[in-house]
Amino acid sequence: MINRAVFEKYRYSTDDQIHVAEHELGHALGVAHNKVNSKSIMNPANTINY
Ligand SMILES: [Zn+2]
Repeated sequence: MINRAVFEKYRYSTDDQIHVAEHELGHALGVAHNKVNSKSIMNPANTINY
């Protein structure tokens, strides 16, 4: 689930919102987090998880 209120609160850019959506879609498909410092879409540090 994407929390749009968080996007507005933290002023995510459109690119950031797409990035989070892709990351969460990865979770929906069963993909786990990658390493924190990786540039993967599954880098856990780039997202807000609930
Ligand atoms: Zn995640």
